[in-house]
Amino acid sequence: MARLSQLHTKGIIDLKDIPECRILDWKKDQLVIGSAVTLAQLEAVQFFPLLSRVCNRIADHTSRCKITLGGNICGKIIYRETVLPLLVANAEFHIATESGVKQVSIHDVFEKELRLLPHEILLQITVDKQITTMPYRSEKRTKIDRIGYPTVSLAAIHNQGEIQVAFSGICTFPFRSKEVERALNDQTLSLEDRVRSAIHKFPEAIMADHHASASFREFIVHNLILDTIESFERA
Ligand SMILES: Cc1cc2nc3c(=O)[nH]c(=O)nc-3n(C[C@H](O)[C@H](O)[C@H](O)COP(=O)(O)OP(=O)(O)OC[C@H]3O[C@@H](n4cnc5c(N)ncnc54)[C@H](O)[C@@H]3O)c2cc1C
Repeated sequence: MARLSQLHTKGIIDLKDIPECRILDWKKDQLVIGSAVTLAQLEAVQFFPLLSRVCNRIADHTSRCKITLGGNICGKIIYRETVLPLLVANAEFHIATESGVKQVSIHDVFEKELRLLPHEILLQITVDKQITTMPYRSEKRTKIDRIGYPTVSLAAIHNQGEIQVAFSGICTFPFRSKEVERALNDQTLSLEDRVRSAIHKFPEAIMADHHASASFREFIVHNLILDTIESFERA
């Protein structure tokens, strides 16, 4: 944007040179991911297999060697697919502020997009080791090819018999919803009714654009959720 003169600034900070932003390692029972770690690195290490798999489906390999986790979360492109595994994992965000580093739950700081104040940057993300070992599923459908923006992207884990799931490409922002999960985990209903009820609880009308109509997206997400629940409950 700056090269196109659409963005003007008095200075630029290269976050990739800050050591804390480049870390990718375990600290006790926590996975610590610096915000400048690339999607290709996350894909390669398999520390958090669900996140690795989601990264593997974003852009092409050459682009993934440049795109950072922080860039995907904070960028302008609405899909922000890396947020999905972080939402289901109840990740903690470490944010550098003018007065120090604060640690907040993703659920308190990510509402449609990352709510940073001026002068704040996302420094690191931490995830509990236990979550990274749970059964998981990631599914992405695009208009045509393997690589492309999602018509639907879903990331889920099976945590003590309950499904935790987040979506992108369905609404104009990535989301995880308590109401949706409550419906999906309601064992008093048939599987079909659980899925239908969950879709009715999406936080926004299903999106329609040049990638897919709303009814086609609904058809895809319905089937992806069914497959996901069946695979978890069969295992
Ligand atoms: C070919 C291609 C295909 C793509 N396909 C997909 C896709 O299928 N799904 C998907 O979700 N995304 C997709 N994307 C988007 C991509 O994942 C990134 O969101 C986008 O490229 C920006 O990433 P970047 O690392 O270059 O960030 P930058 O351009 O460096 O940053 C983006 C913005 O975020 C801010 N920012 C970056 N890091 C931080 C931080 N740590 N703290 C605060 N602010 C920060 C920057 O200041 C800037 O405003 C695609 C991108 C490309 C190029």
